[in-house]
Amino acid sequence: MLNKERKDSFFNKNKKYFDFISNNLKNVYNEPKAFVRTYGCQQNVADSEKFKGMLQKMGYEIVSDPKEASFILFNTCAVREHAEDRVFGNVGALKSLKRRNPNMIIALCGCMMEQEHISNKIKMSFPFVDLVFGTHSMEDFPKLIYKVMQEKKRVFEHKNDERTICEHVPTFRDGKFKAFLPIMYGCDNFCSYCVVPYVRGREKSRECENIIEEARDIIESGYKEITLLGQNVNSYGKTLDNHVSFAQLLKKVDDIDGDYWIRFMTSHPKDAKKELINTMASGKHICNHLHLPVQSGSNRILKLMNRHYTKEQYLEIIYYAKEKLKDVSLTSDIIVGFPGETYDDFCETLELIKEVSFSSLYTFIYSKRVGTKAALMKDPISYQEKSQWFNELLKVQNDISKEYCKKFLNRKMRVLVEGKAVKDGNLTARSSENLIVDIKGNEDLIGKFVNVKIVEAKDWFLKGNLI
Ligand code: SAH
Ligand code: SF4
Repeated sequence: MLNKERKDSFFNKNKKYFDFISNNLKNVYNEPKAFVRTYGCQQNVADSEKFKGMLQKMGYEIVSDPKEASFILFNTCAVREHAEDRVFGNVGALKSLKRRNPNMIIALCGCMMEQEHISNKIKMSFPFVDLVFGTHSMEDFPKLIYKVMQEKKRVFEHKNDERTICEHVPTFRDGKFKAFLPIMYGCDNFCSYCVVPYVRGREKSRECENIIEEARDIIESGYKEITLLGQNVNSYGKTLDNHVSFAQLLKKVDDIDGDYWIRFMTSHPKDAKKELINTMASGKHICNHLHLPVQSGSNRILKLMNRHYTKEQYLEIIYYAKEKLKDVSLTSDIIVGFPGETYDDFCETLELIKEVSFSSLYTFIYSKRVGTKAALMKDPISYQEKSQWFNELLKVQNDISKEYCKKFLNRKMRVLVEGKAVKDGNLTARSSENLIVDIKGNEDLIGKFVNVKIVEAKDWFLKGNLI
């Protein structure tokens, strides 16, 4: 198949729906505009870029203010209760917009909507919502809007079969120099606290050639950073007929010519092997940063979490990374207050983070998720006590982050300039280690690599001068 034909394949398959919607938009709205709000992780950001791409292809202009829009889509997250509560609050607020503009279409999708109890709640309590569909139905988006417009009734799509991978879906990238590139979907790990395998389904990898083709396109379009995305990137390739390991894929992307950086997330410690670290060490474009969520430093809790590694195995790969990658930036996710966790277990987490010396941490208080194994476990510690542990963790990590930042004082670094701080007008840049570097400079450097000398190390960021 010709390249152009391949790239139009999704559109051609859905042409009937795209055409119907475009015509409908011309008849109903003067200037059709669409607003998409994304909750949660980078995978959701990447999915939203596809929704925006499809909406644009239908004839919508993508806008950043929901009040201007005639189509509103919320792409939701179900990982923690807090994220779900925010969605309900924000959906409620759409009622008055819809009253003012009855032709408006309101749609909800993503992980939350894959859960039947949530989709039922929306059906009963939010009658102004027109369309609800889960992650398995993402690529049916044009067909679902067509149904809402043609049948003029509410559509609640709940697919029981798994999502099939659809290539060449039009994409509207939010960033001008940083791009997300999903390499796989779903998760097979069933960590006992986590809802992701239930709402995103079984793990499926994209074909290696499709990923490389997209990476090449991204780099040729001038992007400076690609982030390869998956819930567990290290098990990439398991579902492919021609097995390719994640390290091999990383190397293939790294082999593409150009001036760009590669990041990837998330790595699961049980599947992160020396091969990955060796590829990072020999890579030309791969950032000096490894995000390796440990969740807990207690072997008892790791077992209850169904993580399939011990603290000792975790440290083994960490020490190997430290040996092979000079001053590598290590980051992690920690859950505080998993059901049955004691203060002694928590202290083991504190010990571990001191031993590893992470550059930063993403920390969460355990949130009970319907349908997961942990939701059935006894959870005697109060939220208040968990919050105290949580604050203790932040304090310990703060000192560790400060120490890590100090390593870079007086050093020369290459950074990618990302934007301008509203507060002081300085430029904010990011190093290969994912450290924020504050510099003085002209706005036209945004989106470019520059060399800086680090002149100050703050608690969690650096200050540098352009060289
Ligand atoms: N697939 C990735 C990330 C998944 S979600 C991984 O395995 O690392 C991102 C983070 O959210 C997890 O690493 C975990 O720390 C946190 N998380 C997931 N479920 C949670 C829950 N029920 N309560 C609190 N934090 C949770
Ligand atoms: Fe959730 Fe575990 Fe899968 Fe990550 S690896 S998405 S934490 S089940």
